[in-house]
Amino acid sequence: MKTRLSSCISAAAVAAALLPWICRGADDFRAGAARLDITPPIGTPMAGFYSMRASLGVIDPLYANAIVVEQGGAKAAFVALDVAYTPRTLVVATRRLITEQTGITGERVMISATHTHSGPTLTRDSMMDEITGGQTPPVVDYMGKLPALIAKAVASANAKLAPANASVAMGREEHLSFNRRFVMKDGSYSWQGPRLSPNIARPAGPIDPDVGVWHLTSAGKKTEPLATYVNFAMHPTVMGGLKFSPDYPAYLSKRLAEYFGPDMVTFFANGCCGNINQANVQWAGQHGGATEGERVGTVLGAAVFRALPNLEPQKTFAPRVRSKMVTLQRRAFTDAEIAEARQTALRLSDPKISTPAKAKAVCILDTLAKQGVPLEVEVQAVAISGGFAIVALPGEIFVELGLALKKASPFKHTFIAELANGSIGYIPNRSAYPEGLYEVLSARCTAGSGELLVDEAVKMLKEIATPQAN
Ligand SMILES: [Zn+2]
Repeated sequence: MKTRLSSCISAAAVAAALLPWICRGADDFRAGAARLDITPPIGTPMAGFYSMRASLGVIDPLYANAIVVEQGGAKAAFVALDVAYTPRTLVVATRRLITEQTGITGERVMISATHTHSGPTLTRDSMMDEITGGQTPPVVDYMGKLPALIAKAVASANAKLAPANASVAMGREEHLSFNRRFVMKDGSYSWQGPRLSPNIARPAGPIDPDVGVWHLTSAGKKTEPLATYVNFAMHPTVMGGLKFSPDYPAYLSKRLAEYFGPDMVTFFANGCCGNINQANVQWAGQHGGATEGERVGTVLGAAVFRALPNLEPQKTFAPRVRSKMVTLQRRAFTDAEIAEARQTALRLSDPKISTPAKAKAVCILDTLAKQGVPLEVEVQAVAISGGFAIVALPGEIFVELGLALKKASPFKHTFIAELANGSIGYIPNRSAYPEGLYEVLSARCTAGSGELLVDEAVKMLKEIATPQAN
């Protein structure tokens, strides 16, 4: 009897001693990261311009970068694709596969595009397909394969889930990005310069100098770097040419791999860069191409390295997620605007027609074709700690909106991934609409849509900032 009692006590004691370990195991923050090459075959048409451009080669491979986090039995997945945008059909198909393979439900998966202009055209079910080759056999074939490739990257990150530490810093880089809309001395507005023009009075708006850095390391005996999520607002339009490249994020990734080791997964999410690019109109000698891409990516890398001493360890919790479909209003056009658009559409391959004129015609005719179809978009927010959240917005968001969102956020550090979970093109802030120019001419949604998305995002952030929010 005594023996049996003592063995009972000792079993209970062992269980009691193990309990904290078992509990801690279940509640521990875990993370996994992976990347998978998604470069399409050479010859696949490229995105980023109002013309058909068959690719002729590869400068650097395009990747799907994936991070999965888990705590308390809840998971969230983040994917950054080296492509120009995320068609909603791609997001829906990809999320379905991810759920099948990992159990992570769709609304807990954030899929964003880096917006590289040296990636493939993707099918968008719009007039842009005719212009850029979005319905050609190579693109249709690639679109058929892409969801499985992305899901494989997420499944691989999920399989690598292991105890991890998360830390966050907000770095700063004030001299790399530029607002590409200008107020001229005569009071008019101008798009993209012209370079060194004496008629430029000032940029029409601000930039966002924040360089968000979310760093993940393993939590074992030996701390190994796993992934670095970098968030910065600037168009990847440096490379040009006809070869595939992630643009400047490729060089950011190389610099971080040189420092942290070849296994570092550098995850780049573009911020609200609708009106922001790298062109310095005061610099006569600035060029494009790979050497400039390397300069830009390296300067951004330096901002990440400068931020490392400021990384703040996060007291993580089970990832809190909110996702909501929001209906925006399509724009209305006059009969004269529609007639003009029809005339322009007959001459879209004419090089004498400017990009803004093409964009305006495509926007008007596309809007007409989709009259009666709701313009539904997703807003999503994920928090992994009381101090850090990421918001996903569905288009090319003007920087003013991103700054307003960050200012209103209850979180100390708020990242914004644009072109995420779908894309409806440019989303200017309300006051930019009367100014016109390329982004406004091509915007599908009415003035005030961007502010509505910001309001929805801030509501979600306030919800997930409260402890009872899971
Ligand atoms: Zn763009």
